[in-house]
Amino acid sequence: MTGEGQMNIDTAKLNALIDSKRQAVLEFLREAVSCSTPCNPEESGFHGPNFQHLVASKLTDMGFVPRVWIPEVKAIRSHYPTMGHTFTYESRPNVVAVWRGTASSGGGGNGGSGGGNGAGSGVGGNADRGAGRGRSLVLNTHADVYGPGNVDSWAYPPFAGRVEGGRVHGRGTVDAKGSVTAYLFALQCLREAGFEPAGDITFQSVADEEGGGNGTMACILEGYTGDAVLMGEPTGLAISPGSRGATHLRLRVVGQEAHAGLAYEGVNAIAKTTLYMQALWQLEGELDAKFKHPLWDPFPKAHTMNVEWIHSGGFGGVVPGFSEALMAVGCIGGESIADVRRWVTEAFAKVTEADPWLREHPPELIWGPLAFEPSATDPRHPFVQTAVRAAREVLGRDVPVHALSAGSDMRFFCNQAGLPGLHFGPGDLRLAHSTREFVELDEVMAAIKVLIRLIPDWTMGRHEEDAAGSGRAS
Ligand SMILES: [Zn+2]
Repeated sequence: MTGEGQMNIDTAKLNALIDSKRQAVLEFLREAVSCSTPCNPEESGFHGPNFQHLVASKLTDMGFVPRVWIPEVKAIRSHYPTMGHTFTYESRPNVVAVWRGTASSGGGGNGGSGGGNGAGSGVGGNADRGAGRGRSLVLNTHADVYGPGNVDSWAYPPFAGRVEGGRVHGRGTVDAKGSVTAYLFALQCLREAGFEPAGDITFQSVADEEGGGNGTMACILEGYTGDAVLMGEPTGLAISPGSRGATHLRLRVVGQEAHAGLAYEGVNAIAKTTLYMQALWQLEGELDAKFKHPLWDPFPKAHTMNVEWIHSGGFGGVVPGFSEALMAVGCIGGESIADVRRWVTEAFAKVTEADPWLREHPPELIWGPLAFEPSATDPRHPFVQTAVRAAREVLGRDVPVHALSAGSDMRFFCNQAGLPGLHFGPGDLRLAHSTREFVELDEVMAAIKVLIRLIPDWTMGRHEEDAAGSGRAS
């Protein structure tokens, strides 16, 4: 830890403290996995003991007074009309705990002493901003996990938390209960070591990240924001100050049915659909060549396009007269969903124009319902630089800085509330949502060690230090 007022934290002692908790970390993570919390409990039928109560009781043991509450869909939708589901959050609360900083003005957020309630005042007012000293920090991660899929195809039962060869197996180990565990134990170690942050630290374990982000939106509407946000998502210990954007498109193409033996007399709707698929992937290459962003440079492709299903045909013996395809259209930092929708619409219009049948029978383009904006924080921002420094020093190697090639709740903090943000957590994103999901315990332990460096470095810093930094978020 560098700079003035960094507290008297003995890093070696802190690391020893963390190492002494290795078994406790493992036990907590295993219990976390066994609290099955699929994002769609209504459909998947898994209803384990509620993970959020486990989180809340852990926070209570650490001396916090956590707030547990049910996100209100109506309030969210009034601020974000495009978002908000109709289903209930009855069994899926948010959990927030605020660690008041010594230089805090006591405002911001709903859960602390004298906290102002930002609900109804737009997005994320934060009274701590501009306080003379100490920067506040939000730690946000999510309680819900992707559905288990076909349970029989798992080598290890998805909700058993099996341990083998230093790996913890199961749904959520990567996305994102490894992060929840790391964040909680980092806070616990800092508290036990006597650390006192200058700026507020707000821990959030939210519902429904996988389903669209209502849990995080509820936090922002309640005023739980700060000067920067650390997102607990699987980055493999990389620093990831960007998140992918994407929107769904349903493409409906009309052909003309004909007997299969006289197929030349019909118009095959599947064949016509492939023209648009080719145009989509051609556009992917064109956009990658035209629009670049440093956070997406390391990836082979940035504007990833995917055809997710095609429904067409029927009993057989006939040329299909109708086809519907679901396409996922990706975009990157600095772009918007509106941009990418326009580009696809233009590219598809050219396909339509070039084909006599399609010109007479243009397809129907239906956008959504899935749509999430990308987000990006300038890699030169002091918050990102603080994280890079902390990770490099703790891990003893260069740490990659790139976007998370997935959507995340970071977009709400960056795009709506104007915070700089980055993802950081243990686990390989490629294993997330898969039936092979596991996390290395060593990596969870390493994440905790980075966090106990990063959290003090940021929260003990001065606001004035930010002045040199470039834009908060872009
Ligand atoms: Zn996640």
